[in-house]
Amino acid sequence: MIEGTMEQARDLLREVYGYTDFRDTQEQVIGAALEGRDTLVVMPTGGGKSLCYQLPSIIRPGTGLVVSPLIALMQDQVSALRQLGVRAEFLNSTLEYGEQRRIIDEVRAGTLDLLYLAPERLLQENTLSLLASVDLSLIAIDEAHCVSQWGHDFRQDYLGLNVLDDQFPGVPRMALTATADATTRDDILAKLAFGPAAERFVSGFDRPNIRYTVRAKTDANAQLRAFLDERRGQSGIVYAMTRKKTESIAEMLNARGFKAVAYHAGLPGDVRAACQSRFLREDGVIVVATIAFGMGIDKPDVRFVAHVDLPKSIEAYYQETGRAGRDGEHADAWMVYGLQDVVRMRQMVDMSEADEQHKRIERGKLDALLGWCEVTTCRRRALLRYFGDDLPEDCGNCDVCLSPPETQDGTTAAQKLLSAIYRTGQRFGAAHVIDVLRGKDTEKVRQWRHERLSTFGIGADLSATEWRSFVRQLMVQGYIFADDARFGGLRLTADAREVLRGQRTVLLRKDAAAKSRGRSTKQQETFEISAEDEGLWETLRKCRRDLAEEAGVPPYVVFHDSTLREMLHRRPTSLAEMLSIHGVGQAKLERYGEAFLDALQAKPGSADAGEQPAQAEMGEEFSWQGR
Ligand code: ADP
Ligand code: ZN
Repeated sequence: MIEGTMEQARDLLREVYGYTDFRDTQEQVIGAALEGRDTLVVMPTGGGKSLCYQLPSIIRPGTGLVVSPLIALMQDQVSALRQLGVRAEFLNSTLEYGEQRRIIDEVRAGTLDLLYLAPERLLQENTLSLLASVDLSLIAIDEAHCVSQWGHDFRQDYLGLNVLDDQFPGVPRMALTATADATTRDDILAKLAFGPAAERFVSGFDRPNIRYTVRAKTDANAQLRAFLDERRGQSGIVYAMTRKKTESIAEMLNARGFKAVAYHAGLPGDVRAACQSRFLREDGVIVVATIAFGMGIDKPDVRFVAHVDLPKSIEAYYQETGRAGRDGEHADAWMVYGLQDVVRMRQMVDMSEADEQHKRIERGKLDALLGWCEVTTCRRRALLRYFGDDLPEDCGNCDVCLSPPETQDGTTAAQKLLSAIYRTGQRFGAAHVIDVLRGKDTEKVRQWRHERLSTFGIGADLSATEWRSFVRQLMVQGYIFADDARFGGLRLTADAREVLRGQRTVLLRKDAAAKSRGRSTKQQETFEISAEDEGLWETLRKCRRDLAEEAGVPPYVVFHDSTLREMLHRRPTSLAEMLSIHGVGQAKLERYGEAFLDALQAKPGSADAGEQPAQAEMGEEFSWQGR
């Protein structure tokens, strides 16, 4: 019997979603759910968790419940499903009374495939009794790590979900999460009261379409502009540490013709909501945010996540960058970091209110992140290793793989640096120490008579930038640290003495700031639209924008970029050909097929393709605000 229903699942995958194959563990998960078993699904962001509960909910008799913590997102998910022709609704406090009644009637009548609810709504007495009187196909618990105090986003309401088995015996449950280490996994199953028969499906953490790049920070604003100039028209997130910085960066980008908005916790709720909805609905918006922005951003076509300041830990970094490229297309995780960041982050940990044990953990996490920033081997392998995943070979899609840094025996350079720190009394910051090494005649040098030191001028062969990089690396490798008790003056550790005595060799990476740029641009080209296709590409995007506006959904809900690109490449001339394009299912074919066939026939340039993009987008912005 299950063979037959799996067959049906494959048909629906093609007909409804327009996809040819299941990804990763999707097929096994769906099979288990169809057989009525409880499951835990751990899949990275963008891995395709939704399909795991949507398909069984559609196939099994009865309505599938989806418990989700984010009311703001339910609407988007439900409208995306409706576009596919799936009968989905959500129930929450934002709906008017009449609308709620209508949906409740539909639940009673059993006409819904899927019903989205927040946990607090589900657990209300009247909701439970309503649902007890109808057939349920499945209960999916999304963001299941919210039930665990071990996770990073605990929500009290989730704890109440342990009653589901008693309330709805025999209805298979599925807990889904993107972030769960082994401890959290066990905790989820225990807290949700899943029995020992529950099956676990854990996918790898790898996000192969994301390219990781970490650069030494020289001039963060200029580096960011250069990075973004190569990505005009794409949407993405820029993370910065302070509210003020998010605002100044957004301003700078707007002045350069980007569509950027600042987002942080200090802004009023309606401003934040508007910013979020602009990001979701408009093409090519850049949000410059503190970490306050992100949780629940389900936009599949975020093309880059850029950090101009260090995140707190590798976990935070992985989660933040995970918001890029959920559609599986090429995306960038890009970061610049410098000495100042390292010093400031260490200070923040030291000065925090937390107890000593907690601080030690935080310091450890920060060190792990710094170590990762400075790796000289495949960055992805190092990242995955941190999460306990083993990648059998180098990835070929990170900065280290694409342009391997040169390492050198840096023992002599390290000795010079360490001894300059020592001789100046272990009380100065990097800037002065480097001046001494390079033999600079500065006021401070004269004031302290440092021109008399044996180390004065012994490092004149290297630039200040190179020395700063070495300071950073020696800091990460644990030879020096910035001492807060001495206003951040650099001091030596015990290990440093071994280096000075020649008992230890030090490997240092040469920073290649400008070297690798040409290379990465070339790599980029495979993902670009050729110049002669640009007009038609814009026509297709305009067609999508118009249809999206008409339907009141974000453009990517109509079709993903990858689908438009395939249209551009294959130029379908009939509905049948259109149907063979990835991402075009039966419902979307009926709804949009003709419009896109027409758009493909249109002469490029006949739409607004020739217009200045900035102006075309402006009009769009106003119409959105008018809604
Ligand atoms: P998650 O919830 O795990 O972050 P989603 O369920 O939102 O991820 O899926 C991410 C993207 O991948 C969506 O745009 C979805 O349509 C797409 N997707 C999911 N499964 C498949 C598949 N089998 N083939 C192609 N695309 C898929
Ligand atoms: Zn790599």
